[in-house]
Amino acid sequence: MFLRLRFDSKAVRKPVISAVTLKTSALINIIKAEVGPRRGELIVEVDDSIAEKVEKAFEELGVEVLRLKEKVERNERCVHCGACISICPVEAIVLQDGRVEFLDKCVLCGNCVKVCPVKALKLPTT
Ligand code: SF4
Ligand code: SF4
Repeated sequence: MFLRLRFDSKAVRKPVISAVTLKTSALINIIKAEVGPRRGELIVEVDDSIAEKVEKAFEELGVEVLRLKEKVERNERCVHCGACISICPVEAIVLQDGRVEFLDKCVLCGNCVKVCPVKALKLPTT
């Protein structure tokens, strides 16, 4: 399961990943990290079986947790321009018969969302 973690100015100074790993024994795979002095955002992957425990442990440390679905979402504004293809780090976006398609191996890094000229993409939440 993919989780989006948001840190405020207090939480960003704490060693939260280490603390949660020690508390839950979960293996936390960091997919994307954008951390500054005042706030931060990570996308991490954890095993489904321990996700609830991990979420709770992050929240206890003041981290906002959002569960992410499996794939970036695209709406009807997509014009199949292909601008998002080369920016994907895992080759989850491909051109098939002149149409751009998104494969299931998306890791929700958000790169394609930023480059889409018609804002056809968004990272999902539940
Ligand atoms: S960049 Fe946007 S409009 Fe272009 S193919 Fe990707 S989703 Fe579609
Ligand atoms: S969110 Fe990242 S991994 Fe997923 S399709 Fe877009 S660029 Fe690729």
